[in-house]
Amino acid sequence: MAVLKLDLLRLARTGTGVLNVDVPADSPLWATSDLDLRAPVRVRLQATPVGQGGYYVVGTLGATVGLQCRRCLDDVVQEVNEPIAMLFQPRDEAGAEAGSAEVYDLEVGQTEFDLAEPVREQLLLVAPTYAVCRTECRGLCPRCGVNLNEETCVCAAPEVDPRWQALRTVKLD
Ligand SMILES: [Zn+2]
Ligand SMILES: [Zn+2]
Repeated sequence: MAVLKLDLLRLARTGTGVLNVDVPADSPLWATSDLDLRAPVRVRLQATPVGQGGYYVVGTLGATVGLQCRRCLDDVVQEVNEPIAMLFQPRDEAGAEAGSAEVYDLEVGQTEFDLAEPVREQLLLVAPTYAVCRTECRGLCPRCGVNLNEETCVCAAPEVDPRWQALRTVKLD
């Protein structure tokens, strides 16, 4: 599994920690996510100490996600590049202002933290859940199921003039 760990001792010493990792699409980390990842997930994070022993971790998650167009069920690939923010702080510590950041507990005396699970959660939050292949997608015919982007069907056609209908019947006979 790709390493998504931050060395807290080093972070405390240098005042900043950077995590630039591409986690493979087939990593066990995403195995239970139901996401159809088509490329490695780009994790770009920066950590800075904050408050009493806390850390603020911000950056972006980039992913290439395969989805089905909700109208015509065609394959759609969406690029995601979303900012994320997480605040890690010791339990029971009246710490930094979380703002919009997701808050995670940090154990006292912890020397590294594993961002795998938080990153997994964040990816699930920012990943697209539905897509439309294009705004003018006409979808599938609700009656016969043909893809209306590719062909037309008679279901939605205007009512046929009864006189023509009669002729057609004759022809069929
Ligand atoms: Zn479509
Ligand atoms: Zn139809």
